[in-house]
Amino acid sequence: MNNKLTQHPDNAMLVEFSAGTLPTAASICVSAHLHFCQKCRAELLRLDQVGSQLMTEAEPADVDDSLFDSVMAKIEKAEAAPPENIDQKSDNGFPFSVNRLLNNPAHRPIWKRMSGSVDVARFKTGQSDYEVALHRICAGGKTPKHDHQGTEYTVVLKGSFSDERAVYNEGDFLVRQPGDVHQPMGAQNGECICLSALDAPIKLTNPLGFLMKPLLRINPM
Ligand SMILES: [Zn+2]
Repeated sequence: MNNKLTQHPDNAMLVEFSAGTLPTAASICVSAHLHFCQKCRAELLRLDQVGSQLMTEAEPADVDDSLFDSVMAKIEKAEAAPPENIDQKSDNGFPFSVNRLLNNPAHRPIWKRMSGSVDVARFKTGQSDYEVALHRICAGGKTPKHDHQGTEYTVVLKGSFSDERAVYNEGDFLVRQPGDVHQPMGAQNGECICLSALDAPIKLTNPLGFLMKPLLRINPM
């Protein structure tokens, strides 16, 4: 159990996750957070137990029958398995859901330099409406200042970073809404790797942002 966790999905997200109605992009990050967070796993278990009525009444999710979605459905199920299974970590300490994507040749990402301090590795999800990626911030490195046109979910997988609001440690789950502007900075004591899912392209506010824009967007603007 990670006692440093301060950022969690809100209860509405866990309810939707339990009911299977949470959008895939958010589900990927919630499942990764569950790997680290005993508190949310316990809450999910409670929701699963009391939620059968809710689930039968919930609107069915829009189901994309692509391979990626079927893979995600399986890993979400695995991630929501009993805690004794979830707590097992592979060598790199990442959640199973992330390692399954990393180890799947169809989704395996390639690290690319995004700025002087940040590398990005995008998963090939086959989805056009959101982007799932790993970001690696070097120790003390700053990411380009950017705002968001859509909702972004982030889970810290390794190390920690900070922004204008707080310090985020391994397992923390962040949500950034459209209009939020922030400039994450990696901790001084080591690199930070985050999983992120972006529902829409982000717009850089840095004067040099135009250089990075083609790398960040997922749809032509
Ligand atoms: Zn949690």
